[in-house]
Amino acid sequence: MATHRTKMLIIGSGPAGYSAAIYAARAMLEPIVVQGLQPGGQLTITTDVENYPGYREVVQGPWMMEEMKAQAESVGTRMMYDIITEVDLENGSPFRAVADSGDEFIADTIVIATGAQAKWLGVPGEEALGGKGVSACATCDGFFYRGKKVAVIGGGNTAVEEALYLTNHSDDVTIIHRRDEFRAEKILQERVFKSDKINVMWNKTVESFEAGEDGTLGHLNLRDTVTGETSTLEVDGAFVAIGHAPATELFEGKLPMHSGKYLQVEPGTPKTAIPGVFAAGDVTDSVYRQAVTAAGMGCMAALDAERFLATMEDAREAAE
Ligand SMILES: Cc1cc2nc3c(=O)[nH]c(=O)nc-3n(C[C@H](O)[C@H](O)[C@H](O)COP(=O)(O)OP(=O)(O)OC[C@H]3O[C@@H](n4cnc5c(N)ncnc54)[C@H](O)[C@@H]3O)c2cc1C
Repeated sequence: MATHRTKMLIIGSGPAGYSAAIYAARAMLEPIVVQGLQPGGQLTITTDVENYPGYREVVQGPWMMEEMKAQAESVGTRMMYDIITEVDLENGSPFRAVADSGDEFIADTIVIATGAQAKWLGVPGEEALGGKGVSACATCDGFFYRGKKVAVIGGGNTAVEEALYLTNHSDDVTIIHRRDEFRAEKILQERVFKSDKINVMWNKTVESFEAGEDGTLGHLNLRDTVTGETSTLEVDGAFVAIGHAPATELFEGKLPMHSGKYLQVEPGTPKTAIPGVFAAGDVTDSVYRQAVTAAGMGCMAALDAERFLATMEDAREAAE
């Protein structure tokens, strides 16, 4: 067990955490990144990434995150494979955090980049066919299903928005919802009902995802929630859109949150309610949830942290 003193502790190693690290390290802040259970973040569980600027060819998510990590390390970031289990923010900067290993961190600033996880149905075939027809992000993967038949599972805003987005690529989009009405906002529902590309299957749950002959998704096994009848739906792609869970348990009661436990920040900035504590990426963003937006917010957090440190330094000098 050791105590680490740092100007910046970055919690999380997705695009937000690594981008904050690149900026902070280049500003000579010698940041420490605690990587968490999923080093590299959500993109490590996907295959093709085609929308991150700078790559003309399709790149693989895990490879891209290794590149970001290597870049952050090459400019002076210290990576630690550990999980933050406790944070003490109430006494202001310097903050204290404790990791699973028992190591303690004393940090002048903290960038929270703990991300979010898509919620999954947890039914057979879902995990095995992830990236082979089953996805949790239409903005990310919809393009791969141009002209194909797709389904969206869910009935809230996310599901309805994903279905509408998919009509840019497919003329055959089916929403599968376990109830007989949507929870989504009325205006979004109206757009769905007006679209001749979207069909809705009410009162249906997905019992399993089945592979076709080529090993990618072939069809869904469905069950009617009212009659119990079973049926199948042939699709090329299925998008599970039942929500996201931001990783914010650590901060409950310590930082204000919005719309389902996302960290609240001052609009247009990564500043939380506590000076010196910043939040970046999916942990604060219930809307865009993209690697490039997370990276952008990571950059903003590092730049604002740098300004915070400079202001603290000025105040210290003035007091001496
Ligand atoms: C299957 C899939 C495919 C996707 N495809 C694309 C795509 O093609 N293009 C695109 O732009 N976006 C895509 N996305 C979305 C993109 O992955 C996310 O928007 C992005 O990863 C968010 O980055 P982040 O840094 O905010 O958080 P995340 O990537 O979620 O990373 C969070 C990090 O925090 C760490 N962490 C959590 N808790 C702790 C803790 N207590 N202590 C220490 N560390 C902790 C985790 O280990 C992880 O490293 C996809 C998402 C999924 C799930």
